[in-house]
Amino acid sequence: ATKEKESVKVEGAVQIGILYKKEIDFAGWYTDVLLKSEMMDYYNVSGCYILKPWSYSVWEAVQEWFNVQIKRLGVENAYFPMFVSSKVLEREKNHIEGFAPEVAWVTKAGNSDLEEPIAIRPTSETVMYPCALIQTAELPMFLTFPMSLDYAKWIKSHRDLPLKLNQWNSVVRWEFKNPRNFEEPFLRTREFLWQEGHTAHLTKESADEEVLQILDLYRRVYEELLAVPVIPGVKSEKEKFAGGLYTTTVEGFIPTTGRGIQGATSHCLGQNFSKMFGILVEDPNASAQSKEEKEKLFTDVVDPSAGKLFVWQNSWGLSTRVIGVMVMVHGDNKGLVLPPRVASIQVVVVPCGINSKTDHKAIFKGCEDLVLTLQNANIRAKADLRDGYTPGYKFNDWEQKGVPIRLEIGPADLAKSQAMSVRRDTGAKAPIALSNIAASVKQLLDVIQRDMFNRAKEVFDSHIIPVVKWEDVVPNLDDKNIVVMPWCEVEACEDDIKERSGRSAEPQDERAPSAGAKSLAIPFAQDRWPKIEQGTLCPACGNQAKRWTMFGRSY
Ligand code: AMP
Repeated sequence: ATKEKESVKVEGAVQIGILYKKEIDFAGWYTDVLLKSEMMDYYNVSGCYILKPWSYSVWEAVQEWFNVQIKRLGVENAYFPMFVSSKVLEREKNHIEGFAPEVAWVTKAGNSDLEEPIAIRPTSETVMYPCALIQTAELPMFLTFPMSLDYAKWIKSHRDLPLKLNQWNSVVRWEFKNPRNFEEPFLRTREFLWQEGHTAHLTKESADEEVLQILDLYRRVYEELLAVPVIPGVKSEKEKFAGGLYTTTVEGFIPTTGRGIQGATSHCLGQNFSKMFGILVEDPNASAQSKEEKEKLFTDVVDPSAGKLFVWQNSWGLSTRVIGVMVMVHGDNKGLVLPPRVASIQVVVVPCGINSKTDHKAIFKGCEDLVLTLQNANIRAKADLRDGYTPGYKFNDWEQKGVPIRLEIGPADLAKSQAMSVRRDTGAKAPIALSNIAASVKQLLDVIQRDMFNRAKEVFDSHIIPVVKWEDVVPNLDDKNIVVMPWCEVEACEDDIKERSGRSAEPQDERAPSAGAKSLAIPFAQDRWPKIEQGTLCPACGNQAKRWTMFGRSY
């Protein structure tokens, strides 16, 4: 009778593996991994998903690290409302042109229509900046803003600069362009979690410096936490943030599809928004210099004689997209592979070899002791002592969920004072002595983290193909590469490249998010490729080339 009961239990716990192969049906594989690893669940509003604890904990790991870093830079967290009035949203013309098609509006409350529809933030420049308004009475009429008089005047003087705020929130971008994008949870969703930093500076130099400091933190989130290599660079004029001065980015790569992905962006907004929202401070040099000197120093002074300067602003954001990129880069046909630094469980301990003859209590005790030892060394460990599941079932379960290390403990292991370790990333098995196990496991977690990054970096590097002839562009894209070429940086040329690279010799993937190539980034590390000389021509249009630029099909 006992046997019968056992077999029923085991049957009831049949483990269903990932149904799709990563190389064959990538989209099917991706969603299957997210569902089976319990990262995500569907929701009945399209383009929106539920982040289950298994993915939210990755986000928390990113938040914890990033918060520490930005606070060191003097950034403070705050929270602003999610609603924007249409008047304010539409104040910065280029900005709203970029975002208008994706803005969701609240038009009703209960049964009654709102007098004026209210927008849900697609990003918070227009939510936050009116509050920073100063000395409204002195502004030209077109810049005044009815509610601002009563509001906190955040920036009273140049001594309040730099003002550095960040908020952890969600934004809504109601994308219709490509319904197929909704097969990419995390990468592109209608509501997404992110942080958005917004800072104001007295000088362009101060703003420029911070843009790069933040970009480097984004690089480190990808490379050090998620073990995903990225390439820092600047966006082309066409791809920069709507209403900004310039956009820097860390660009990632999804090898299975050969597509680029914008990892996170750090924008210098210049003075565009401060002019629209009238964010000014008195010129600290006002008394020290003559009018002519001031004019030389600050070409964009609102009115040099009034001694006022528009502030320089930055905004920067990193979203839950990072989770999707991590899954796509590291996952395999068994499921998720989590980098140790962001895994909420780094080590799972599974009791093995239990039968009617073994003392399962001693083995369970061995597992629990081991978990305590590891936890005391700040390793996130858990024992899987679930009743009624075979070790094999548990192995698969935790493999699907991507736990970096499994430690198996059976009677023979206990007798030898050891545990059998199994790496999720490589499958490599090795016994580890219990006597010094916390240190050994710590070391192994570090090795796994480093190996995962190095492997991914090798793959990325080998898929960035330098090209100098147009004929080499499309075949390389079709071979799932990103190309890097000496580019003229002319906007019309970028449109043309997109058009021409969309006409591929290969049958196009029907579900390709964008079949034509766009510029991904102009990498900062130009010295990876030969110096561009006078006479080096853009392979696409034949004009003088300026900088090596990555082009690729992308998400
Ligand atoms: P942006 O404000 O457009 O520069 O966006 C900041 C970052 O958020 C981008 O670099 C993306 O990584 C990410 N992002 C943009 N749109 C989405 C979306 N629909 N879903 C998830 N992440 C997004």
